[in-house]
Amino acid sequence: MAVPECLFCGIAAGEIPATVVLDSPRTLAFRDINPKTPTHVLVIPKAHYPSLATLAVEESLLAELVAQVHEVARAEGIADTGYRVVFNTGGHAGQSVDHVHAHVLGGRPMSWSPG
Ligand code: AMP
Repeated sequence: MAVPECLFCGIAAGEIPATVVLDSPRTLAFRDINPKTPTHVLVIPKAHYPSLATLAVEESLLAELVAQVHEVARAEGIADTGYRVVFNTGGHAGQSVDHVHAHVLGGRPMSWSPG
């Protein structure tokens, strides 16, 4: 179900422009508008789930989303060099868009720090 004021629902519906990388019936991958790495793609379920906590109970959709994450990595040529998948969840993690999304990051070596 789409939420009218939700940015990513608008992108999923094609009402807000985005650079789409992969489009599947229930999931969508598009480029982050403010990339942190040479490849920075967001993967979302088209239906509105506010966070990973609410998507976690939808096992088949979660599996589809993770499969699309890896498909993105292959399509972007970072599957072999390595990539990072991040679900910022809630305030302490800095989640800024309340429509669950996986960040797919890669294209250069990354350090690891939760700071
Ligand atoms: P988070 O902070 O984990 O909620 O991530 C939200 C991400 O959405 C950020 O990396 C933003 O750069 C990205 N973002 C915000 N608006 C757009 C947009 N219109 N199109 C693509 N990415 C966006």
